[in-house]
Amino acid sequence: MIYDAIIIGGGPAGLTAAIYTSRARLKTLLVESFTVPAQAAITSDIENYPGFPEGLNGFELVEKFKKQAKKFGTEFKTGDVTKIKEHKEAGLRAYRVDFGDEKISSLSVIIATGARPKQLGIAGEDTFRGKGVSYCAVCDGAFFKGKNIVVIGGGDTALEEAVFLTKFANKVSIIHRRDRLRATKILQERAFANKKIEFILESTAEGISGDSKVKAVKIKNTKSGKETELPCEGVFLFVGYIPNTDFLKGTVGLDKDGYVKSGHGLTTSARGIFVCGDARAKRLRQIVTAAGDGAVAAFSARLYVEELKGTAYE
Ligand code: NAP
Repeated sequence: MIYDAIIIGGGPAGLTAAIYTSRARLKTLLVESFTVPAQAAITSDIENYPGFPEGLNGFELVEKFKKQAKKFGTEFKTGDVTKIKEHKEAGLRAYRVDFGDEKISSLSVIIATGARPKQLGIAGEDTFRGKGVSYCAVCDGAFFKGKNIVVIGGGDTALEEAVFLTKFANKVSIIHRRDRLRATKILQERAFANKKIEFILESTAEGISGDSKVKAVKIKNTKSGKETELPCEGVFLFVGYIPNTDFLKGTVGLDKDGYVKSGHGLTTSARGIFVCGDARAKRLRQIVTAAGDGAVAAFSARLYVEELKGTAYE
Protein backbone atom coordinates (compact mmCIF):
# COMPACT_ATOMS: atom_id res chain seq x y z
CA MET A 1 0.00 0.00 0.00
CA ILE A 2 1.62 3.23 -1.15
CA TYR A 3 0.20 6.74 -1.37
CA ASP A 4 0.96 9.17 -4.18
CA ALA A 5 1.05 12.09 -1.77
CA ILE A 6 1.35 12.33 2.00
CA ILE A 7 0.63 15.82 3.29
CA ILE A 8 1.93 16.62 6.76
CA GLY A 9 -0.13 19.33 8.46
CA GLY A 10 -3.85 20.13 8.61
CA GLY A 11 -3.89 23.93 8.34
CA PRO A 12 -4.92 26.00 5.30
CA ALA A 13 -1.72 25.11 3.38
CA GLY A 14 -1.97 21.34 3.88
CA LEU A 15 -5.72 21.21 3.34
CA THR A 16 -5.50 23.24 0.13
CA ALA A 17 -2.73 20.92 -1.10
CA ALA A 18 -5.03 17.99 -0.25
CA ILE A 19 -7.92 19.48 -2.26
CA TYR A 20 -5.63 19.84 -5.26
CA THR A 21 -3.86 16.45 -5.09
CA SER A 22 -7.18 14.67 -4.51
CA ARG A 23 -8.82 16.39 -7.46
CA ALA A 24 -5.79 15.35 -9.55
CA ARG A 25 -6.65 11.81 -8.38
CA LEU A 26 -3.40 11.34 -6.51
CA LYS A 27 -4.03 8.89 -3.68
CA THR A 28 -3.65 11.33 -0.80
CA LEU A 29 -3.20 10.95 2.94
CA LEU A 30 -3.14 13.99 5.23
CA VAL A 31 -1.48 13.50 8.61
CA GLU A 32 -2.55 16.15 11.11
CA SER A 33 -1.04 16.76 14.51
CA PHE A 34 -3.00 15.96 17.63
CA THR A 35 -0.83 18.19 19.81
CA VAL A 36 -0.07 21.25 17.64
CA PRO A 37 -3.21 22.99 16.35
CA ALA A 38 -3.22 24.90 13.05
CA GLN A 39 -2.68 28.55 13.99
CA ALA A 40 -5.53 29.61 11.69
CA ALA A 41 -7.92 27.36 13.62
CA ILE A 42 -7.20 29.25 16.86
CA THR A 43 -7.40 32.71 15.32
CA SER A 44 -10.26 34.85 16.62
CA ASP A 45 -11.55 36.75 13.60
CA ILE A 46 -10.30 36.53 10.04
CA GLU A 47 -11.18 39.57 7.97
CA ASN A 48 -8.59 39.50 5.18
CA TYR A 49 -9.47 36.19 3.53
CA PRO A 50 -10.95 37.22 0.18
CA GLY A 51 -14.59 36.46 -0.49
CA PHE A 52 -15.81 36.89 3.08
CA PRO A 53 -16.41 40.63 3.63
CA GLU A 54 -18.28 39.92 6.85
CA GLY A 55 -15.22 38.10 8.29
CA LEU A 56 -14.80 34.54 9.48
CA ASN A 57 -14.00 32.52 12.55
CA GLY A 58 -10.67 30.69 12.05
CA PHE A 59 -11.90 27.33 13.31
CA GLU A 60 -14.92 27.42 10.99
CA LEU A 61 -12.76 28.33 8.01
CA VAL A 62 -10.36 25.43 8.61
CA GLU A 63 -13.32 23.05 9.04
CA LYS A 64 -14.63 24.18 5.63
CA PHE A 65 -11.22 23.51 4.03
CA LYS A 66 -11.28 20.04 5.61
CA LYS A 67 -14.79 19.25 4.42
CA GLN A 68 -13.74 20.22 0.90
CA ALA A 69 -10.65 17.96 1.00
CA LYS A 70 -12.75 15.04 2.29
CA LYS A 71 -15.29 15.62 -0.47
CA PHE A 72 -12.57 14.97 -3.06
CA GLY A 73 -11.31 11.82 -1.33
CA THR A 74 -8.44 12.85 0.94
CA GLU A 75 -7.84 10.32 3.73
CA PHE A 76 -6.95 11.61 7.20
CA LYS A 77 -4.86 10.26 10.05
CA THR A 78 -3.72 11.88 13.29
CA GLY A 79 -0.18 11.85 14.60
CA ASP A 80 3.06 13.77 14.98
CA VAL A 81 5.51 12.84 12.23
CA THR A 82 8.94 12.01 13.64
CA LYS A 83 10.85 10.93 10.54
CA ILE A 84 10.83 10.91 6.73
CA LYS A 85 13.18 8.43 5.08
CA GLU A 86 13.84 7.77 1.40
CA HIS A 87 13.59 4.19 0.14
CA LYS A 88 12.67 2.24 -3.00
CA GLU A 89 9.16 0.90 -3.54
CA ALA A 90 8.44 -1.18 -6.66
CA GLY A 91 11.61 0.26 -8.18
CA LEU A 92 10.49 3.87 -7.63
CA ARG A 93 11.90 6.47 -5.24
CA ALA A 94 9.51 6.72 -2.29
CA TYR A 95 9.45 8.13 1.25
CA ARG A 96 8.53 6.34 4.44
CA VAL A 97 6.77 8.67 6.86
CA ASP A 98 6.80 7.62 10.55
CA PHE A 99 4.18 8.87 13.02
CA GLY A 100 3.06 7.15 16.21
CA ASP A 101 3.18 3.40 15.51
CA GLU A 102 2.54 3.91 11.80
CA LYS A 103 5.06 3.81 8.98
CA ILE A 104 3.43 4.76 5.67
CA SER A 105 5.00 5.06 2.22
CA SER A 106 4.35 7.67 -0.42
CA LEU A 107 5.86 8.69 -3.73
CA SER A 108 5.75 12.35 -2.72
CA VAL A 109 5.54 14.31 0.53
CA ILE A 110 4.17 17.80 1.07
CA ILE A 111 5.30 19.53 4.25
CA ALA A 112 2.67 21.89 5.68
CA THR A 113 3.54 21.73 9.37
CA GLY A 114 3.27 25.47 10.03
CA ALA A 115 4.71 27.20 13.06
CA ARG A 116 3.99 27.49 16.78
CA PRO A 117 4.13 30.49 19.12
CA LYS A 118 7.59 31.46 20.33
CA GLN A 119 8.31 31.64 24.03
CA LEU A 120 9.89 34.79 25.40
CA GLY A 121 11.99 32.99 27.98
CA ILE A 122 11.38 35.35 30.91
CA ALA A 123 11.16 34.38 34.59
CA GLY A 124 7.75 32.98 35.54
CA GLU A 125 6.70 32.26 31.94
CA ASP A 126 6.86 28.49 32.40
CA THR A 127 5.73 28.50 36.04
CA PHE A 128 2.52 30.38 35.28
CA ARG A 129 1.69 28.73 31.95
CA GLY A 130 -1.99 27.79 32.25
CA LYS A 131 -2.19 29.85 35.46
CA GLY A 132 -2.52 33.19 33.71
CA VAL A 133 0.14 32.86 31.01
CA SER A 134 -1.23 32.02 27.57
CA TYR A 135 -0.31 32.03 23.87
CA CYS A 136 -3.87 31.69 22.58
CA ALA A 137 -6.54 34.36 23.04
CA VAL A 138 -9.31 32.26 21.46
CA CYS A 139 -8.55 29.35 23.81
CA ASP A 140 -8.16 31.29 27.07
CA GLY A 141 -9.62 34.80 26.64
CA ALA A 142 -12.96 33.97 28.26
CA PHE A 143 -11.19 33.10 31.56
CA PHE A 144 -10.32 36.79 31.97
CA LYS A 145 -13.76 38.41 32.16
CA GLY A 146 -13.42 41.78 33.90
CA LYS A 147 -9.69 41.23 34.54
CA ASN A 148 -6.58 43.16 33.60
CA ILE A 149 -4.47 41.57 30.88
CA VAL A 150 -0.97 42.23 29.59
CA VAL A 151 -0.18 41.48 25.94
CA ILE A 152 3.47 41.29 24.92
CA GLY A 153 4.47 42.02 21.29
CA GLY A 154 3.89 44.64 18.61
CA GLY A 155 3.06 42.55 15.51
CA ASP A 156 -0.22 41.65 13.79
CA THR A 157 -0.98 38.82 16.20
CA ALA A 158 -0.44 40.93 19.33
CA LEU A 159 -2.70 43.75 18.14
CA GLU A 160 -5.40 41.56 16.64
CA GLU A 161 -5.59 39.36 19.72
CA ALA A 162 -5.41 42.36 22.09
CA VAL A 163 -8.51 43.80 20.44
CA PHE A 164 -10.22 40.40 20.71
CA LEU A 165 -9.31 40.19 24.41
CA THR A 166 -11.08 43.51 25.12
CA LYS A 167 -14.34 41.57 24.64
CA PHE A 168 -13.62 40.00 28.02
CA ALA A 169 -11.03 42.10 29.83
CA ASN A 170 -11.40 45.24 31.87
CA LYS A 171 -8.12 46.57 30.47
CA VAL A 172 -5.46 45.29 28.04
CA SER A 173 -1.93 46.71 28.32
CA ILE A 174 0.27 46.11 25.28
CA ILE A 175 3.97 46.05 26.10
CA HIS A 176 6.24 46.56 23.09
CA ARG A 177 10.01 46.99 23.04
CA ARG A 178 10.12 49.73 20.38
CA ASP A 179 8.60 53.22 20.06
CA ARG A 180 6.42 52.12 17.14
CA LEU A 181 4.58 48.97 16.14
CA ARG A 182 5.29 46.32 13.53
CA ALA A 183 1.59 45.51 12.94
CA THR A 184 -0.41 46.40 9.80
CA LYS A 185 -1.79 49.94 9.95
CA ILE A 186 -5.49 48.98 10.09
CA LEU A 187 -4.81 46.84 13.18
CA GLN A 188 -2.89 49.73 14.78
CA GLU A 189 -5.76 52.15 14.11
CA ARG A 190 -8.23 49.75 15.66
CA ALA A 191 -6.11 49.17 18.74
CA PHE A 192 -5.41 52.91 19.23
CA ALA A 193 -9.16 53.62 19.00
CA ASN A 194 -10.04 50.97 21.59
CA LYS A 195 -10.57 52.62 24.99
CA LYS A 196 -9.75 49.42 26.86
CA ILE A 197 -6.25 49.23 25.35
CA GLU A 198 -3.21 51.08 26.68
CA PHE A 199 0.26 50.99 25.14
CA ILE A 200 3.45 50.73 27.12
CA LEU A 201 6.09 51.32 24.46
CA GLU A 202 9.88 51.19 24.62
CA SER A 203 9.48 48.64 27.37
CA THR A 204 10.29 45.01 27.90
CA ALA A 205 8.65 42.44 30.15
CA GLU A 206 11.34 41.16 32.52
CA GLY A 207 9.39 38.63 34.56
CA ILE A 208 5.98 37.35 35.62
CA SER A 209 5.14 36.94 39.29
CA GLY A 210 2.27 35.68 41.42
CA ASP A 211 1.29 32.96 43.88
CA SER A 212 -0.91 30.17 42.53
CA LYS A 213 -1.86 32.52 39.66
CA VAL A 214 -0.35 35.50 37.84
CA LYS A 215 -0.40 38.72 39.87
CA ALA A 216 1.98 41.09 38.03
CA VAL A 217 4.49 41.67 35.24
CA LYS A 218 7.79 43.41 35.86
CA ILE A 219 8.43 45.99 33.13
CA LYS A 220 11.65 47.77 32.24
CA ASN A 221 11.76 51.00 30.25
CA THR A 222 14.42 50.52 27.57
CA LYS A 223 15.42 54.23 27.62
CA SER A 224 15.52 55.06 31.32
CA GLY A 225 16.15 51.52 32.59
CA LYS A 226 13.44 52.16 35.21
CA GLU A 227 11.62 49.05 36.43
CA THR A 228 7.97 48.97 37.47
CA GLU A 229 5.41 46.31 38.43
CA LEU A 230 2.16 46.18 36.49
CA PRO A 231 -0.58 44.26 38.37
CA CYS A 232 -2.56 41.91 36.09
CA GLU A 233 -4.30 38.54 36.07
CA GLY A 234 -3.37 37.42 32.56
CA VAL A 235 -0.30 37.59 30.32
CA PHE A 236 -0.64 36.78 26.62
CA LEU A 237 2.60 36.43 24.67
CA PHE A 238 2.61 37.07 20.92
CA VAL A 239 6.28 37.52 20.06
CA GLY A 240 6.41 35.59 16.81
CA TYR A 241 6.58 31.95 15.78
CA ILE A 242 9.02 29.08 15.34
CA PRO A 243 8.53 26.55 12.53
CA ASN A 244 7.47 22.97 13.28
CA THR A 245 10.38 21.50 11.38
CA ASP A 246 12.56 19.80 14.03
CA PHE A 247 11.88 16.38 12.49
CA LEU A 248 13.17 17.60 9.10
CA LYS A 249 16.77 18.31 10.15
CA GLY A 250 19.03 16.37 7.79
CA THR A 251 16.13 15.56 5.42
CA VAL A 252 15.56 18.92 3.66
CA GLY A 253 17.47 22.21 3.66
CA LEU A 254 16.45 24.61 6.43
CA ASP A 255 17.43 28.25 6.94
CA LYS A 256 19.09 29.52 10.14
CA ASP A 257 15.69 29.91 11.86
CA GLY A 258 14.56 26.40 10.89
CA TYR A 259 12.21 27.36 8.03
CA VAL A 260 12.27 25.06 4.98
CA LYS A 261 14.09 26.55 1.99
CA SER A 262 12.12 26.19 -1.23
CA GLY A 263 12.76 26.51 -4.94
CA HIS A 264 10.57 27.12 -7.97
CA GLY A 265 7.33 25.14 -7.62
CA LEU A 266 7.94 24.88 -3.84
CA THR A 267 10.45 22.09 -4.23
CA THR A 268 12.86 21.38 -1.37
CA SER A 269 16.43 20.06 -1.43
CA ALA A 270 15.01 16.49 -1.51
CA ARG A 271 13.41 15.38 -4.80
CA GLY A 272 9.78 14.47 -4.25
CA ILE A 273 9.41 16.52 -1.04
CA PHE A 274 7.58 19.84 -1.37
CA VAL A 275 6.73 22.55 1.15
CA CYS A 276 3.92 25.05 1.66
CA GLY A 277 2.58 27.51 4.24
CA ASP A 278 4.15 28.99 7.36
CA ALA A 279 6.90 26.35 7.65
CA ARG A 280 8.42 27.68 4.43
CA ALA A 281 11.08 30.42 4.41
CA LYS A 282 9.20 33.47 3.06
CA ARG A 283 8.18 37.01 4.02
CA LEU A 284 4.37 36.98 4.19
CA ARG A 285 2.54 34.44 6.34
CA GLN A 286 -1.20 34.69 5.79
CA ILE A 287 -4.02 32.22 5.30
CA VAL A 288 -4.36 33.31 1.69
CA THR A 289 -0.64 32.81 1.00
CA ALA A 290 -0.73 29.43 2.78
CA ALA A 291 -3.62 28.37 0.53
CA GLY A 292 -1.77 29.63 -2.57
CA ASP A 293 1.34 27.73 -1.49
CA GLY A 294 -0.72 24.58 -0.99
CA ALA A 295 -2.05 24.71 -4.55
CA VAL A 296 1.44 25.25 -6.00
CA ALA A 297 3.05 22.46 -3.93
CA ALA A 298 0.23 20.07 -4.91
CA PHE A 299 0.61 20.90 -8.59
CA SER A 300 4.37 20.24 -8.39
CA ALA A 301 3.78 16.97 -6.51
CA ARG A 302 1.34 15.87 -9.21
CA LEU A 303 3.82 16.56 -12.03
CA TYR A 304 6.56 14.80 -10.06
CA VAL A 305 4.46 11.68 -9.34
CA GLU A 306 3.19 11.42 -12.92
CA GLU A 307 6.74 11.71 -14.28
CA LEU A 308 7.92 9.08 -11.81
CA LYS A 309 5.16 6.70 -12.91
CA GLY A 310 5.62 7.55 -16.58
CA THR A 311 2.02 8.77 -16.90
CA ALA A 312 2.70 12.49 -17.44
CA TYR A 313 0.61 14.24 -20.09
CA GLU A 314 3.39 15.71 -22.27
P1 NAP B 1 5.86 39.02 14.19
O1 NAP B 1 5.36 39.77 13.02
O2 NAP B 1 7.18 38.33 14.09
O3 NAP B 1 5.88 40.02 15.43
C1 NAP B 1 6.40 39.61 16.67
C2 NAP B 1 6.41 40.80 17.63
O4 NAP B 1 6.99 40.37 18.84
C3 NAP B 1 7.23 41.98 17.10
O5 NAP B 1 6.61 43.18 17.40
C4 NAP B 1 8.54 41.81 17.86
O6 NAP B 1 9.19 43.03 18.13
C5 NAP B 1 8.08 41.20 19.18
N1 NAP B 1 9.15 40.40 19.75
C6 NAP B 1 9.80 39.34 19.20
N2 NAP B 1 10.74 38.86 20.04
C7 NAP B 1 10.68 39.66 21.14
C8 NAP B 1 11.41 39.67 22.35
N3 NAP B 1 12.38 38.78 22.60
N4 NAP B 1 11.10 40.61 23.25
C9 NAP B 1 10.12 41.52 23.02
N5 NAP B 1 9.39 41.56 21.90
C10 NAP B 1 9.68 40.62 20.97
O7 NAP B 1 4.84 37.87 14.65
P2 NAP B 1 3.24 37.87 14.58
O8 NAP B 1 2.65 39.16 14.94
O9 NAP B 1 2.84 36.67 15.33
O10 NAP B 1 2.95 37.60 13.05
C11 NAP B 1 3.52 36.44 12.39
C12 NAP B 1 3.07 36.44 10.93
O11 NAP B 1 1.67 36.19 10.85
C13 NAP B 1 3.31 37.77 10.24
O12 NAP B 1 3.69 37.50 8.92
C14 NAP B 1 1.97 38.44 10.30
O13 NAP B 1 1.76 39.38 9.26
C15 NAP B 1 1.03 37.25 10.17
N6 NAP B 1 -0.28 37.54 10.79
C16 NAP B 1 -1.20 38.16 10.02
C17 NAP B 1 -2.43 38.48 10.56
C18 NAP B 1 -3.44 39.17 9.67
O14 NAP B 1 -3.18 39.33 8.50
N7 NAP B 1 -4.60 39.54 10.18
C19 NAP B 1 -2.72 38.20 11.88
C20 NAP B 1 -1.75 37.59 12.65
C21 NAP B 1 -0.52 37.28 12.10
P3 NAP B 1 9.88 43.90 16.95
O15 NAP B 1 8.75 44.50 16.18
O16 NAP B 1 10.70 44.87 17.69
O17 NAP B 1 10.70 42.92 16.14
